[in-house]
Amino acid sequence: MDEIYDLLILGGGPGAMTAGIYAKRSGLNVAIIEKSVPGGAVATTYEVANYPGFVKISGADLANKMFEHTTSLGVEFIWEEVSKVIPEGDVKIVETYSGKTYKAKTIILAFGASVRKLGLDNERLFIGKGISYCATCDGAFFKDKVVAVFGGGNTALEDSYYLSNIAKKVYLIHRRDEFRGDDILVKQVKTKDNIELVLNSIVTKLTGDKILEEIEVTNKLTQETKNLKLDGLFVCIGRGPDTEMVAGDLKLSESGYIVTDECMRTNFDGVFAIGDIRQTPLRQIVTACSDGAIASTKAFEYIKALRQKDQEKK
Ligand code: NAP
Repeated sequence: MDEIYDLLILGGGPGAMTAGIYAKRSGLNVAIIEKSVPGGAVATTYEVANYPGFVKISGADLANKMFEHTTSLGVEFIWEEVSKVIPEGDVKIVETYSGKTYKAKTIILAFGASVRKLGLDNERLFIGKGISYCATCDGAFFKDKVVAVFGGGNTALEDSYYLSNIAKKVYLIHRRDEFRGDDILVKQVKTKDNIELVLNSIVTKLTGDKILEEIEVTNKLTQETKNLKLDGLFVCIGRGPDTEMVAGDLKLSESGYIVTDECMRTNFDGVFAIGDIRQTPLRQIVTACSDGAIASTKAFEYIKALRQKDQEKK
């Protein structure tokens, strides 16, 4: 008979690894399924300065430390990409693109969220040819070049600052005149002479022969357009939840995030959701970890109740 895990954690970010640590320490038979590298979005974050215990640490280093901690306890990692989750019934089914099927009594959905695209017609053509969604991954290719960052959250602010130390010039384009990101990062950006703010504006056109050469920016207040010649455009306009692989009627918020109760329970028995995929007032490493600890503890209680029922039947 196929192995049935007590708990399968889908996604390998900080919340997932925290859940794995708690589950293993509770004695659960647990595995984490992750498609690429442990750490999720944190693994490509330039610097983390708000996770207690580390005044400043690179996202990759923090992700590695969490991975070491998780694996040191013997939490199993399965390196696969999930294609389908069937959350109904006593045994939950997880299918992967390699054709494998995994089974578990409980599941924690921790897929996170993936980058939002510009939605312009020829965007796809320029991916890797001027357009990037990750400054820490691709920034080094733009030494002494001209780049633009589009967005107004912490990622856009951090990435602009990071790129200003590599590129000759950075345009920071944001659709409003106030940033969504933290004040401390806004102040940091404003200290850099080679960052030019282009506010109340959006990117409306991409042009180039094989590689991106120019973008058109439209001012939302005046409708005036201007063209910026550049070598790279970093799109940092947020993320959307990765829920499409979950079958059935999962309860979602208006913006598509999974609705849970305070114990991270979804509307399916034994199925929990944590971190960036969940409807929550704050998406940070520390809140994802907190979600993971709560979900894992509740998954343990769920398993304990199942075991008790099984005992009573015997
Ligand atoms: P975010 O906070 O959701 O910000 C997205 C930005 O893109 C917003 O400024 C938004 O504009 C803009 N935007 C969204 N859709 C757009 C569209 N269609 N066209 C133009 N602009 C659009 O995303 P994020 O910056 O990636 O951050 C995600 C989460 O990670 C946040 O919770 C953030 O705090 C966290 N994070 C933390 C750190 C850190 O603490 N070191 C670093 C990076 C990220 P509006 O402001 O007008 O809505």
